[in-house]
Amino acid sequence: MIQGPVGGAAGPGGAGAARGPRRGRRGRSRARAGLGLLVLAVWAAGGCRAGPEVVGGVSRADRRDYRAFRARFPDLLEPNYLPFMTHRVRIPGSDEDALVFCRFEIDAFPLAVRLEGPELDDLQDEFHPTPPERYRAAVREAFRAWARELEGPFDFVFVEEDGASDLVVRIRGEEAPVPVPEVRVLGSAPLGRACRILEARPGADRLAVDFRVPELQIYVADEYGLLTPEQVLQVARHEIGHALGMRGHSPVPADLMYEMVRDRKLLRERESAFSEQDENSFADLYRLPNGTVYRWVPREGEPDREPEPLPAGPPELDPAPHVDARLGYSVRTPRGWLRVETPRGMVALDGVTWDYRASLQIVVMAYDTLDEFLGRYAGAYLRGGRLVEQANVIVRGREALRLVEVDDTHGWTEELTFLASGDGRVFVVVADASREEYEAFRPWFWAALATLEIWPEQAAPGEPGWSGFPR
Ligand SMILES: [Zn+2]
Repeated sequence: MIQGPVGGAAGPGGAGAARGPRRGRRGRSRARAGLGLLVLAVWAAGGCRAGPEVVGGVSRADRRDYRAFRARFPDLLEPNYLPFMTHRVRIPGSDEDALVFCRFEIDAFPLAVRLEGPELDDLQDEFHPTPPERYRAAVREAFRAWARELEGPFDFVFVEEDGASDLVVRIRGEEAPVPVPEVRVLGSAPLGRACRILEARPGADRLAVDFRVPELQIYVADEYGLLTPEQVLQVARHEIGHALGMRGHSPVPADLMYEMVRDRKLLRERESAFSEQDENSFADLYRLPNGTVYRWVPREGEPDREPEPLPAGPPELDPAPHVDARLGYSVRTPRGWLRVETPRGMVALDGVTWDYRASLQIVVMAYDTLDEFLGRYAGAYLRGGRLVEQANVIVRGREALRLVEVDDTHGWTEELTFLASGDGRVFVVVADASREEYEAFRPWFWAALATLEIWPEQAAPGEPGWSGFPR
């Protein structure tokens, strides 16, 4: 499902907009709070049946369960949002539900897709009508993007005849419905009965499943009138992700499969429709055996978990550095942390993108001097907390500015280190953790920062060098 706000109340940008690719738990909850929207998945569950059936999706995901799953499947591509793709299966008589991956069989491709509509009579702009064919072309392009840009079996053919298709896309020439106050549903994939359970034993590693989604609905208008074909393309791309087996939503706002579109202006063409996390997750979904159980969960709510112990002892770093030839640096990160490359640098997390306690992010900007950069951007990097520390420090022989900010309301601490390379680059290192855990993580942040090696623009023969910002 993809949803837009009603009334266009959500402003552009929002928290963290100037900060680059910040991801994860806290950014998410802040974005939600700013919206004040209720977000619900409103798929109907299956009807009354005696056998096992799908009753929903994942209710919460934890990095520790994910690690246990990864131990079974060590070749998973990361980062991914696999837990959020699962269907929750209830077995009569069992006190545990299975979270199961359920998708088309590989030999179901190419899927035969038939487009229906739209009829736009009442919605057309008198002076600038949009031919309905442009919306059909946008939906076809959405399918082609999946086939072209994702690794996997995704392939589609378009058919005209009724009854000859695996999937019907109803392109509705009407204003998208508002089933819950303030939530407009621009598209929907009825997944309630999509995953049928053919055979299930409690505790099994895999269930026998059969998956099909007969139709998708795409609306081409909201209260302001017609969406553009480009906006409909983006709605369709998202709904196709559900039709391919994703039950829930990514918790990471940068992903195509994130559940909210805050503003119709955000329904725009992006450089790539799919994030690395979207690509990895769908590739993994179709590489895992169909019906694989992610985990078994208690039927009646899960007990709260013991907190994970905090890091102790001298910091340990991964022996292999993260090497970024685009931006000309390398850095070692705390041992076992997940590394994700971002457009302007990288982020390392002590968990996964959707569940972590501490993160260390590097952003590289094109600025000659620290003063010039700070004059323009220092404010943008501060998030409105209490500044508790400001110091000039030396990082590997370079002068740097360190700021530490605490937010007592939301309970986080963030440490910013700014340093200039002297050849047109400014490095911003952002370390954060909860206010209570920050002191425990701080030595790990500093140990990693001390390994930040900035390559010179003119390297000696045999040494790594930096060849300028990618253009
Ligand atoms: Zn959705």
